[in-house]
Amino acid sequence: MACRLGRVVSRPLQITILGATGSIGLSTLDVVARHPDRYDVFALTGFSRLAELRALCLKHRPRYAVVGDQAQARILQDQLHADGVSTRVLDGEGGLSEVAAHPEVDVVMAAIVGAAGLKPTLAAVQAGKRVLLANKEALVMSGALFMQALRDSGAVLLPIDSEHNAIFQCLPTDYSQGLGTVGVRRILLTASGGPFREMAPDLLSDVTPEQACAHPNWSMGRKISVDSASMMNKGLELIEACWLFDARPHQVEVVVHPQSVIHSMVDYVDGSVLAQLGNPDMRTPIAHALAWPERIESGVSALDLLRVGRLDFQAPDDRRFPCLRLARTAAEVGGTAPAMLNAANEVAVDAFLNRRIRFTEIASIIDDVLNHEASVPTVCLEDVLAADRRARDFAGQWLYRNGR
Ligand code: NAD
Ligand code: MG
Repeated sequence: MACRLGRVVSRPLQITILGATGSIGLSTLDVVARHPDRYDVFALTGFSRLAELRALCLKHRPRYAVVGDQAQARILQDQLHADGVSTRVLDGEGGLSEVAAHPEVDVVMAAIVGAAGLKPTLAAVQAGKRVLLANKEALVMSGALFMQALRDSGAVLLPIDSEHNAIFQCLPTDYSQGLGTVGVRRILLTASGGPFREMAPDLLSDVTPEQACAHPNWSMGRKISVDSASMMNKGLELIEACWLFDARPHQVEVVVHPQSVIHSMVDYVDGSVLAQLGNPDMRTPIAHALAWPERIESGVSALDLLRVGRLDFQAPDDRRFPCLRLARTAAEVGGTAPAMLNAANEVAVDAFLNRRIRFTEIASIIDDVLNHEASVPTVCLEDVLAADRRARDFAGQWLYRNGR
């Protein structure tokens, strides 16, 4: 027996995993494989690591696989045919949206990194699926349209980001009436502070991509690892929290908590503060969202508080982490500002990972883009996509102007 949208059904739920070859995708498959009675893998998508996607298809036998382009699709289709696997291989944006919105799909894990995940994630929302949202960039870019599509379709959105999953667990079930109405004073969004939490600000300009990707507590994809090091991840999460929980930016306070044991907290008007704790392992929020409102085993070991010993808290340092301030400003400005912040950040992080810019120039590029490009209201998806293109163009010009 499994529960979907609060309804009891007697067949395994069909799940599409967008971004199956990534860190979140693989953790999802790990949880799903523990519960074959509850979940069937319907579709897996990948972009670059074709050999890994082939191995996943051999193991999980999905109905569909989706890759980046036609040439890759032909190669994978031939390989799977030779392997005796009947998976059908699709490609491109059309293929992603098809497996996200397919009528036989119940659950979609949205775990593509960056703006590339926006259209398939929206397709899943519009098709009324149970959407497990890891791809925070999609919501940051298109928040108002995304939440409207959710209301229109009746889709169920469950946050995978550990902080938002924690907040969701600490809020009462009727929080959509408004945070004030249910007695919430503030959301306390915890941040590990990343690998450079204690580094002197003047040394940050010389850090390498390897140092930036060596997160002290979490093992993640390279883009989100750099975002964690710059604290842009927390900035994107602040915007994500505003959309998910209908909060104003000033209602979300960032608290640095180096141990990453408390995943976030909700502060109520009576002085109660509710927190969700656990080992830093994404299989916990994934299992929570897969089974909600039930609970299932995730493979994560029990939290040993005596071993943790202590929990520390600090205020974030704006001088060391200007990206957090830029994101807060974009959240307050609204309109297309968050989409432009996200696009500029994606270009800058890619340039940093390819050793074209210094770590500290990530914030300089984003700042320049936000100063140059005016925010406009997001009436339709094209407004968001146009702002994304403009910001990428301007960030590209920055690289060119500065000889990178
Ligand atoms: P990752 O880099 O490990 O995996 C990304 C996945 O997206 C891969 O399957 C890749 O093939 C696919 N992909 C990349 N570019 C694509 C494109 N242009 N078109 C289609 N597919 C593409 O990333 P990750 O760490 O798993 O993160 C995925 C998302 O989840 C991100 O939005 C991240 O912010 C969010 N998230 C991750 C974690 C974590 O612990 N890893 C935690 C919270 C939120
Ligand atoms: Mg997070």
